[in-house]
Amino acid sequence: EKQRLTFDELIGHWAQEKPDATALEQDGKAITFAELENRTRRIVAMLAAHGIGKGDRIAWLGKNARHYFELFYAAARAGIVMVPIGWRLAAPEIAYILGDTGAKALFIDHDFDELAALSCQQMESPPEVIDTPTAMAEIAVAPANDFEPAGPDDAVLQLYTSGTTGNPKGAVLTNRNLFALRMPAEEAGQPWSKWDEDEAILVCMPCAHIGGTGLGIMAIAAGIRGIVQAEFTPAGVLQAFEQGITRLFIVPAALQMVIQHPLAKTTDFSAVKYVMYGAAPIPLDLLREAVKTMPDAGFLQCYGMTETTGTIAMLPPDDHVLDGNQRMRSAGRAVPGTELRVVGEDGQELPRGEVGELIVKSPSNMAGYWNLPDATASALIDGWMHTGDAAYMDEDGYVYIQDRMKDMIISGGENVYPAQVESAIYGHPAVAEVAVIGVPDDTWGEAVKACVVPKPGADLDPNDIIAWTRERLAGFKVPKSIDVIDVLPRNASGKILRRELRAPYWEGRDRQVN
Ligand code: ATP
Ligand code: MG
Repeated sequence: EKQRLTFDELIGHWAQEKPDATALEQDGKAITFAELENRTRRIVAMLAAHGIGKGDRIAWLGKNARHYFELFYAAARAGIVMVPIGWRLAAPEIAYILGDTGAKALFIDHDFDELAALSCQQMESPPEVIDTPTAMAEIAVAPANDFEPAGPDDAVLQLYTSGTTGNPKGAVLTNRNLFALRMPAEEAGQPWSKWDEDEAILVCMPCAHIGGTGLGIMAIAAGIRGIVQAEFTPAGVLQAFEQGITRLFIVPAALQMVIQHPLAKTTDFSAVKYVMYGAAPIPLDLLREAVKTMPDAGFLQCYGMTETTGTIAMLPPDDHVLDGNQRMRSAGRAVPGTELRVVGEDGQELPRGEVGELIVKSPSNMAGYWNLPDATASALIDGWMHTGDAAYMDEDGYVYIQDRMKDMIISGGENVYPAQVESAIYGHPAVAEVAVIGVPDDTWGEAVKACVVPKPGADLDPNDIIAWTRERLAGFKVPKSIDVIDVLPRNASGKILRRELRAPYWEGRDRQVN
């Protein structure tokens, strides 16, 4: 069978194979693959009428929406690059991204006109702002002209990194980046690369991130129904489980809210085939609780980054064994078609078991960062993407992500990875959430500090947390101090912003970063 590597080929293919099957659905409103084929053609014509064509960029400001995916798919068919912007961003941040990309048009959804106007006010040459519901009503009566389809190596999507370690960077992704790993997965016979006709995939993470938009890409690649939810709510996800979704992707912080929601006890999870989770380290206790909550679902841990179009390593369901299997701490193995290596500071591959930087070679590696040639040159070396994550690999090729290299704490010459300390503290009965950071220390260079959010009503004694950790981890990993706080700073991807927690302690000092 021919490998289809572009949106144009895939949409054309499914419109022919299964014209009446649902392609996209939101709040009970659905369109079929035949309608998708036709509507995306009309959208390309609408874009052309606004002077937008191949190589141009358009941006989206809104929550997840069926219209967003239609716009993205249409643009991608014609080689117009979609830039979804996080709706939780502030006007100056939005203005920065719009300016950086040079988007010709900003498509906005309901309720975003004010934020769009505020953002555009701060720009010298703002994009044309287009109200999406209005434009979408018009395309119903517009002609469906022919256009020149984009090829496999044309850019179609520009996603900004989550901005966890610094400023977000625009990763430019091509058609090939989006679809090249599908065929190798099928050829390798991975059961989760096979789809039943009646499957449905839930898009509940924000479309400005690969964990949101990537699920829409997966739906098009597999020719199955994508169910779009405007934003993540635990109750919404629980409802979707009962509406027959078979797969979803969810970040650990959201998974925790779902399984701890009161409705989870009475929810029927039996239709779920695969729960994909990742984007941040998952505490082992949380993962075990999730597996117990959905015993019939296959859990797939996904490790990846915006720059690799998402997942490049996967921990399969078989390795989610509750009886103390060490593998459950791993982020999995390279997905077929992808190579992983752990390298030392000199770039040489390290022996198995030694911690270094994880690097990846994959057809899903981005074309580069937009407008950042230096950052691109230091991240993408000879086709290898440098992840900035510290990891080791075992004899069987399983990778164990320790943490981000920038967050590693060096205390008295010993390396401490915050994620490991967090995972230990997370199991304490009075702890709802925890983040571990390094703070300056005259004796140790850096000292380990835990910022802990207590469970509602819990009586949290800092000394008890320290004693709890001492029972579970080596002495140099045990926090020297505890801050009790109300809430952890997180970004829209659900990632803890440790740099914000660190900032007050490092004011006026330089933190050595590896
Ligand atoms: P920025 O690059 O702007 O600092 P970011 O790295 O958080 O932000 P993303 O591309 O959304 O932006 O996230 C990729 C990172 O997420 C990875 O480099 C890794 O640190 C983390 N990550 C992803 N999946 C996992 C996982 N399964 N386990 C642990 N960490 C993960
Ligand atoms: Mg990153």
